[in-house]
Amino acid sequence: MEIRNPRTGVFDYELIEDSFQAINKKAEDIRSNQKNWQAMAITDRVAVLQKWLDSFKEFQSEIADQLAIDTARKRIATIEVSGILGLIQAWCFRAPQLYAPPIERPSISANTVKINQQWIPYGLVGVISPWNFPLLLALIDTIPALLAGCGVLLKPSEVTPRFMDGLEKSINAVPELTGVLKLVRGGAEAGKAVVQNVDAICFTGSVPTGRKIGAVCAERFIPAFLELGGKDPGIVLEDADIQIATDGILRSAVGATGQACQSLERIYVAESVYSEFVKEIATKAEAVTLTTNPEEGQMGPLIFAQQAEKIQQQIDDAIQKGARLITGGKVENIDGGLWCRPTILTHVNHDMMVMTEETFGPIIPIMSFITEEEAIILANDSIYGLSASVFSTDIDNALKVASQIEAGAISINDGSLTNKVYDAEKNSFKESGINGSRMGDSGFLRFFRKKALLIQTADPETMMDFEESGFQ
Ligand code: NAD
Repeated sequence: MEIRNPRTGVFDYELIEDSFQAINKKAEDIRSNQKNWQAMAITDRVAVLQKWLDSFKEFQSEIADQLAIDTARKRIATIEVSGILGLIQAWCFRAPQLYAPPIERPSISANTVKINQQWIPYGLVGVISPWNFPLLLALIDTIPALLAGCGVLLKPSEVTPRFMDGLEKSINAVPELTGVLKLVRGGAEAGKAVVQNVDAICFTGSVPTGRKIGAVCAERFIPAFLELGGKDPGIVLEDADIQIATDGILRSAVGATGQACQSLERIYVAESVYSEFVKEIATKAEAVTLTTNPEEGQMGPLIFAQQAEKIQQQIDDAIQKGARLITGGKVENIDGGLWCRPTILTHVNHDMMVMTEETFGPIIPIMSFITEEEAIILANDSIYGLSASVFSTDIDNALKVASQIEAGAISINDGSLTNKVYDAEKNSFKESGINGSRMGDSGFLRFFRKKALLIQTADPETMMDFEESGFQ
């Protein structure tokens, strides 16, 4: 596969796809090693991951450089790399505290029986990840799965594959890890082969792909942990601090060029502060600088050319239906890269794609509301339920409004706090995903099945216990 460079538009990297046979072989190899991995004490698995942490540090700058080409973002690439170092450390600390199958105990319902409860990890977990935060989303589920004792077959996105070269070197430097963690290179076909080979799937990506993978997993009776798209609403109540609201919303909506699942993608502002809000956020949006010179600026190009087309289509659809363009508005080709300046749209409504479909770009459509009830109805008028934000100086009221929003995580007086907070459990609502939280303790505990060994300490009942004669 020829891979496009998002900064230059040039197809300058060749991805050699794994064949079906190669993927099957990797899965078999992991299975043959996983039993020993599972049998190790968790503290020994922690020791292996700590070795990986050391080797990851050795290759850290190589991985960051490759990731910076994949995503055309230098600073965020470095943040992703240090985020992974932090995640390995955090799970190495937390997982042994959580791994606590209870000691043998008598049953309450059958008091002659003793219960020996075991936690059995899924043998082989498939991780399939997207292109927007390629390293972080490849490893966010991989790390706790490995610590739980699972083997992992990991297929990152084919759109941003360069970082896999450095990542693989860091894995290969830890012989105890190479048997239970293998990378798969390729696109949808390779992803399908992964799904066919594993005992559980952790998928991060779009709703349409998640739906397909979920259907295959249902067919195969394996769990699918699906982390999908969003159309996060931000609500600005009339008592909100406008500086805080405009700063938080702008950063959340256009940071990483809006290519984050938890970007704020539609904003509802109380009518009494609407004009002030629009004026202020427009001024701040105009001040955002592009990284056309990679050494300076705040916002990079769009990573995926097909996404750029969708973004332009949504802007055009909104304008054609009566939206007013306040800033930005056009995907521009600059030296081969596709760029979109922060785009603010007003006079929008829910008949427009930009208010209903995931945009995944730096677009801020803004609507006004009169009552809080109306704001909540608008926020919930979506097929998505990933996350949201509420801005208010009255925290109790903000919490009251937040509690009524159908989404897994609500940030108060900031946007996208889920990209900072890893220890709060959150489930996706509606089409944004399904199954156990990847954040918080469930992020580790969901990789175990519970198995009961039941020991009868009295004589077993006999068939005479079912004898009808003489029964009153
Ligand atoms: P995508 O669904 O197109 O692809 C994701 C991955 O699935 C890629 O690795 C791809 O090769 C693979 N794939 C494609 N078809 C497949 C199939 N039939 N079977 C198996 N694998 C298949 O998503 P994308 O465009 O890479 O990523 C953007 C999407 O990811 C957005 O919708 C975004 O909101 C979502 N996302 C969600 C979260 C979250 O935590 N909820 C985080 C980041 C991104």
